[in-house]
Amino acid sequence: MSKMGTDEKEGGVAMAVKIIKEGNIKEVFEGWCMYCGCEFEYEKEDLKESFYDQREGCTYHTIKCPYCGIDLCIEERRKRG
Ligand SMILES: [Zn+2]
Repeated sequence: MSKMGTDEKEGGVAMAVKIIKEGNIKEVFEGWCMYCGCEFEYEKEDLKESFYDQREGCTYHTIKCPYCGIDLCIEERRKRG
């Protein structure tokens, strides 16, 4: 009859989270080109594609090198600050 470990009553704490101010921190990433060796920074909107590799456990970004124009697939590296 009774389900093990199941609490019928969950307390009913209502979440009342409100956004006071919208965040405007831009996510900036660092990348480097394995063909010409340049380093650059970019934002999410510059990305062509972004995908998560489950085996590697990290996110990869597809982006065009701003210097030589080759399509790169690089590991996500968030810039600090
Ligand atoms: Zn390049």
